[in-house]
Amino acid sequence: MPAVGVLALQGGVAEHISILMKLGCFVKEIRTPDDLKSISALILPGGESTTIISLMNRWELTRPLKEMGEAGFPIFGTCAGAVILSKEIDEKEHEVSQNSLGLADVRAVRNYFGRQTSSFVENINVAGLAELFKGVFIRAPLLLPLSDEVSVLSRVKDGPVLLRQGNLWLSSFHPELTPDSSIHRLFLESHGILKGSG
Ligand code: GLN
Repeated sequence: MPAVGVLALQGGVAEHISILMKLGCFVKEIRTPDDLKSISALILPGGESTTIISLMNRWELTRPLKEMGEAGFPIFGTCAGAVILSKEIDEKEHEVSQNSLGLADVRAVRNYFGRQTSSFVENINVAGLAELFKGVFIRAPLLLPLSDEVSVLSRVKDGPVLLRQGNLWLSSFHPELTPDSSIHRLFLESHGILKGSG
């Protein structure tokens, strides 16, 4: 089975790796363009999007990642990772991030759900999952679809929190911060990387 890559520049890398290993995946930490060879999907973890974007630029990962995303390669961005995938980033407190990936027709409103101290957990309904999923929101963005090509897979009262546009998945919460691997499984199954459990 080809490995699933986790962008390992900053943020919640270890947590994604342990969920993927729990699902039986081989995992590869991605730090350079060379690391992108022989992976079948990629996770962009949460963390600080401005930091991750500047490290991606420094390590010359932005262009190859953009090309892979445009060519249909499966990429799942969680929290800061979702901000990085979005075409529009609403910058309340920060200057507009240059040279981000900008692949998905999504407007990300950064830190919409408040500061670190107003982090919260909410049980959310997710299309394709029978059980509620425990969504952990930490300085989470609101993710607003900009085109009909974007499907909303989950929403809270304020708006969408899990989106899919073909090969691109975006969550404003952290699916790696609970023992429940079902959202990672859904992402990987939808691209034939894991076989459905029925
Ligand atoms: N607010 C952070 C950002 O926009 C994301 C926070 C997170 O990933 N938990 O970079």
